[in-house]
Amino acid sequence: WFQRNPTCFPPPTMSPAFTISFAKQCIVVTGGNRGIGYAYTRAIAQSGGNVAVIYRSSKDAEEVTDKVGKEFGVKTKAYKCDVTDTDVVNKTLKQINEELGPITGLIANAGVSVPKPAFELTHEDFKKVFDVNVYGVFNTTRAVAKLWSDQNFKKGSIVITASMSSQIINQSAQNEPLTQVFYNSSKAAVSNLTKGLAAEWASKGIRVNAISPGYVNTDQTAYMDKKIREYQASAVPLGRFAEPREITGQALLLLSEHSSYMTGGEYFVDGGQLIW
Ligand code: NDP
Repeated sequence: WFQRNPTCFPPPTMSPAFTISFAKQCIVVTGGNRGIGYAYTRAIAQSGGNVAVIYRSSKDAEEVTDKVGKEFGVKTKAYKCDVTDTDVVNKTLKQINEELGPITGLIANAGVSVPKPAFELTHEDFKKVFDVNVYGVFNTTRAVAKLWSDQNFKKGSIVITASMSSQIINQSAQNEPLTQVFYNSSKAAVSNLTKGLAAEWASKGIRVNAISPGYVNTDQTAYMDKKIREYQASAVPLGRFAEPREITGQALLLLSEHSSYMTGGEYFVDGGQLIW
């Protein structure tokens, strides 16, 4: 092929076989004890990576995390750490780096929602949502980036769980508008934060990307009754909500070397919902 196309230089080299392994790596997953985060934890462990799970208060987080480690024969450990607390986050990430590390990747996934109509939302609700979904993401990503920068580690990958709602507003059901304005706007902020941090840290070799899922069956969507679910699913081209494990493939790709030229992107895993 190269002889027939001599102007194309250098000749294309073969891509490595598409396998992903995180052997001898340590990935931190915030909110990794349940929902989408738990699916990330399992997927990384199944691909040979050690996983540090950050959680806020769930009583079974340590047990759940230990079980994954035993199932896949890797090191896993749960760390109780509120992502909104700067000192605790910095301390916890240093501890993880010493105990399970060196850290090679982070999924900043912890998030909360306050599903209330706009007339009922309070300043406290605003602070709750933005503190975790925006400051918490910033806080953990900066702590990890600082560790990598200090260690001159230039292959770190950060994946942020944003949401399809960074781009679109959903109406929960006809005649029952519930758009979650604080949640949606916090995810729009995170989408922009991803681009800003990617630009700032590109020269340090740190990549930052976001995954934006559509509706996923987790505790966060459990408040929807059958009618609202069916209405929402009817707006998804694939016709249903996702299972948490269906979000993990994109995360594994973005954490791995296969995405070494990808940064500042927002990748939608939404059953096609943004088509409409
Ligand atoms: P869940 O409600 O199932 O889990 C939330 C996780 O975040 C828990 O592990 C929780 O810890 C952790 N967490 C919350 N606040 C803090 C905090 N202050 N410090 C540390 N950990 C915290 O959420 P999902 O799995 O549904 O969502 C995960 C991410 O995906 C979120 O960012 C969410 O916004 C986003 N997303 C979800 C969608 C969905 O349809 N489910 C759709 C699009 C995006 P603990 O268990 O200790 O409380």
